[in-house]
Amino acid sequence: MSKRAHNFCAGPAALPTAVLQRAQAEMLDWNGLGVSVMEMSHRSDEYVAIAEKAEQDLRDLLAIPSDYKVLFLQGGASQQFAEIALNLLPEDGVADYIDTGIWSKKSIEEASRYGNVNVAASAKAYDYFAIPGQNEWQLSKDAAYLHYASNETIGGLQFDWVPEVGDTPLVVDMSSDILSREIDVSKFGLIYAGAQKNIGPSGLVVTIIREDLLGRARSLCPTMLNYKVAADNGSMYNTPATYSWYLSGLVFEWLKEQGGVAAMEQRNKAKKDLLYKAIDASDFYSNPIAKNARSWMNVPFRLADEKLDKAFLAGADARGLLNLKGHRSVGGMRASIYNATGLDAVEALVAYMAEFEKEHA
Ligand code: PLP
Repeated sequence: MSKRAHNFCAGPAALPTAVLQRAQAEMLDWNGLGVSVMEMSHRSDEYVAIAEKAEQDLRDLLAIPSDYKVLFLQGGASQQFAEIALNLLPEDGVADYIDTGIWSKKSIEEASRYGNVNVAASAKAYDYFAIPGQNEWQLSKDAAYLHYASNETIGGLQFDWVPEVGDTPLVVDMSSDILSREIDVSKFGLIYAGAQKNIGPSGLVVTIIREDLLGRARSLCPTMLNYKVAADNGSMYNTPATYSWYLSGLVFEWLKEQGGVAAMEQRNKAKKDLLYKAIDASDFYSNPIAKNARSWMNVPFRLADEKLDKAFLAGADARGLLNLKGHRSVGGMRASIYNATGLDAVEALVAYMAEFEKEHA
């Protein structure tokens, strides 16, 4: 087998090698059927079984209660920004949003096209280095929902708590931290996640929605964006992203084999502890985020002298430590350490960081 690099890409992100090997083995001939999953009718018994198993495995992994629908949709998480408003925000209503960075800002901009949005709190007050506590939030009286992003992939800012907003449905963008640590799904009205970090290939988005929130779409909501239509048709109103759905199912199986989300949480904690410890122990590297808001999945860091950035990245590439360049809006470095990135990758990164510091400090 060819060598696999340690891929720290923020997304599309590394997938488990075992999953790709299995997909490769099944590529031409799935289960003796003589066709690839990509070539199957989405209505065939075989494909429906693949799709249903993927859903059931995700339900098992997250202990999703039976009064929630799991939808395998298209258009990525960005399409959900509009879809949420079109389905859940009445024309004369208001929705509360929390701004903690670039992705929540995009969700705010998109929802604002369709209705009244109240930005109840913004991390701008803290230069996006900390999350305002709930005592600082200005919530609306009758919000249709409260939206926030549990992990800001670019800024590296993550909630380590779940907002308490009474009966207001919580709508959360979990694109970059779903399945990375345990959650209580029953606290949320709607959870959505673009697949390309902890789930599978890009383009697919998984939406978990409490059933009482179905059937509220505006009349102008396109059929393809109507959650009830998707739910009533088992996410097959049109041809779904069949191969991405199948690959996601393989990832869910792999996660179960690894010990599920609880095991992932332990592993992810060890990974982020190791990396932040290395950053904090050195004057050469820094991460500006408040300790209680540091992301477990995306770790941005800076070198003391940004003139060394290029050399750092070149040395990393030469060692097979790929995609460490920070987002263009932030600069510096960013190590994305999702579920498929093992502790060995973080150990290799930390060893390289120490070596580079010794050479250049
Ligand atoms: N939300 C978050 C937190 C993200 O990290 C991303 C993309 O990386 C998105 C939304 C947008 O996802 P997509 O590219 O699937 O539309």
